[in-house]
Amino acid sequence: MTLAAAQQPLVFIVSGPSGSGKSTLVQKMLEVPGTISSVSCTTRPPRVTESAGKWYDFISEEEFDRRVRAGEFLEHARVFGKHQYGTPRRWIDEAQRKGLDLVLEIDVQGAEQVKEKLPAAVAIFILPPAKKELERRLRARGQDSEEAIGRRLERARQEMQRYTEYDFLVVNDDIERAGREIQAITVAARCLRGCLSERACKILESFGG
Ligand code: 5GP
Repeated sequence: MTLAAAQQPLVFIVSGPSGSGKSTLVQKMLEVPGTISSVSCTTRPPRVTESAGKWYDFISEEEFDRRVRAGEFLEHARVFGKHQYGTPRRWIDEAQRKGLDLVLEIDVQGAEQVKEKLPAAVAIFILPPAKKELERRLRARGQDSEEAIGRRLERARQEMQRYTEYDFLVVNDDIERAGREIQAITVAARCLRGCLSERACKILESFGG
């Protein structure tokens, strides 16, 4: 691997069913120095707790389609057959410019596209402890209608089938333990041979490559 290739930011993909606790685990990853997360675009309306620019860039269907045509997304997908979500490409440049590793919290369709474009991306799948517990968590959030909960559960069933496409699985039955696991993965991935650091590259080059 050349030094230029090594300077690409490490990209982490975090997926898992709605209610698996992926957002909390992404926050744990961001506690590891040297990481940033992207802000996705979505056509979904904001929830009362969400402010623009922090959770999502909330845009119209027309604007989303325009950005798709302009090739602005690294990946994009229609999630739950309803709203569109996408990761702007500029986050890769942003991470590269700042010398940080990028964390993407995206669904299984987006993960597939990122893996295709960036095969070195490290994909982590979050497993909820049990189906019953997932259902309980979705209801406890109180943010979705019965119909939406039904849709999310059906979607969870489909998403869970795709765990084999991921490099790491983290069971989120205990947030402290799962948090330590995901932080350990974040740190360990930086030592993967395929993700050679600039420092390691320089050492290897000084020995003749
Ligand atoms: P929510 O509407 O609950 O915030 O997110 C619904 C689903 O969309 C979650 O599974 C979340 O991971 C996924 N999602 C959020 N941002 C993106 C994105 O940029 N791309 C893709 N493909 N999925 C996303």
